[in-house]
Amino acid sequence: MPGGDGLLNHDLLPNEKGPQDACGVFGVWAPGEEVAKLSYFGLYALQHRGQESAGIATSDGSKILIYKDMGLVSQVFNEASLSTLLGHIAVGHTRYSTTGSSSWQNAQPTLGRTSSGTVALGHNGNLTNTAELLELVRERYPKVDGELARGNTTDTAVITALLTGDLDHTLEATALEVLPRLRGAYCLVFMDETTLYAARDPQGVRPLVLGRLERGWVVASETAALDIVGASFVREVEPGELITIDENGLRTQRFAKADPKGCVFEYVYLARPDTTIAGRGVHEARVEMGRKLAAEYPVEADLVIPTPESGTPAAIGYAQASGIPFGQGLVKNSYVGRTFIAPSQTIRQRGIRLKLNPLKNVIKGKRLIVVDDSIVRGNTQRALVSMLREAGAAEVHVRISSPPITWPCFYGIDFASRAELIATGLEVDEVRQSIGADSLGYLSEDGMIEATEQPRERLCTACFTGVYPIALPESQHLGKNLLERPAASNGCDPGPDSDLEAVLAPAARQEEALARLGQVPFGDPGRPE
Ligand code: SF4
Repeated sequence: MPGGDGLLNHDLLPNEKGPQDACGVFGVWAPGEEVAKLSYFGLYALQHRGQESAGIATSDGSKILIYKDMGLVSQVFNEASLSTLLGHIAVGHTRYSTTGSSSWQNAQPTLGRTSSGTVALGHNGNLTNTAELLELVRERYPKVDGELARGNTTDTAVITALLTGDLDHTLEATALEVLPRLRGAYCLVFMDETTLYAARDPQGVRPLVLGRLERGWVVASETAALDIVGASFVREVEPGELITIDENGLRTQRFAKADPKGCVFEYVYLARPDTTIAGRGVHEARVEMGRKLAAEYPVEADLVIPTPESGTPAAIGYAQASGIPFGQGLVKNSYVGRTFIAPSQTIRQRGIRLKLNPLKNVIKGKRLIVVDDSIVRGNTQRALVSMLREAGAAEVHVRISSPPITWPCFYGIDFASRAELIATGLEVDEVRQSIGADSLGYLSEDGMIEATEQPRERLCTACFTGVYPIALPESQHLGKNLLERPAASNGCDPGPDSDLEAVLAPAARQEEALARLGQVPFGDPGRPE
């Protein structure tokens, strides 16, 4: 799939994508400000939530303009394109799509007609009743047009179609009628020609915050985006709340009773460390996870190193609690992202080294504790352990700052299918053997939850426990659909391992596949990768 400049490849192995996660949304209402530029920098701060396409829509009060394309925010926009996006209202979106929906048509914001004008919409999350909603669209608007007619296959296109509304309805009235019908995880930021709207599902699965500018308002997926555009944090958009901002100011309405079930994985991996969710700093939560991990799984060692960058806060916590020195044993090339030129076969065989390179002088002869946030398929950790041994590590002890992931997510994070998750069906020691570590310890569910400082009943932990807080359609409980994303789902940005999965050598994958089939023994730490 060509990137924004037509030259770059999406990743090395399109059929071997890692987990995908929720997108990033940003909205601004600020007369007198350059709202397109504010959105650009807001999206820049949310780039980690979606790296495949980006888009911004603006309105000057009478017409909506939109620009979107495949690629990173910095690839999609330049001074020239931003300068054409005039107005005082804007909606922005960064997205990572699933296989089959990596297309311009599915990029956001989406555009749709309403009874009184136009709607532009950005969505972070994933609906669980898309099929039912699509039926409703067909019933209400038999002549399909708009995004769906243009080939958009996401749940966001279905919401956009539903926002068409009855002839005498304002967009606000239509939204209040449509929002209670949506099931699943959704943070919506949308606008018509005169008004900015923000809505969050009753469970508040994904984060969404409200900020204040001197001359206006901002809504964003994470507080870090507020910081970057100079907005002060006001509060979270409440679960089940619709916020409306126009020249009359800000209004709030409830469309459903709040039943908070925030995604615990935002604290573990997804959100930026400099973001605060439900009053808890993500960095602090991760450091605490590391401390608890040290208490739960101590081991004698010489050095604690993180898998950069996502394992760093937990590694700091582990080192603090254990008294074992913290060090950087791996150097990350920050510029190898999800979108880069496909390397030659020779370079590809270097696999993980495209992304991480060991500091041999630091790790040689040392007993290492390697801290990472999660294990999905295990390919990354296997390659990492092998690389560290090759670089001279005496022992490699892997510590994971979350419990084993054993269930898929239907609320906006596309982990590997259940069959591909290494912890499904394998005991911890079998996972240890598979990745070739001397020891392996996962943080307990209790430890993870305590570190977030959130009451257990206000969190979703389904990917660790299989207890889904929002009911799933029956068909998703059974048969092959349980292992796959819903066909018309939204699909968003990359989760843990995804960037490394993309650069792992095919040989390592083949070995993994054979091992899982029982054709070669697990756990020969000295085997070549
Ligand atoms: S299943 Fe996991 S990733 Fe998905 S919302 Fe729940 S905690 Fe988050």
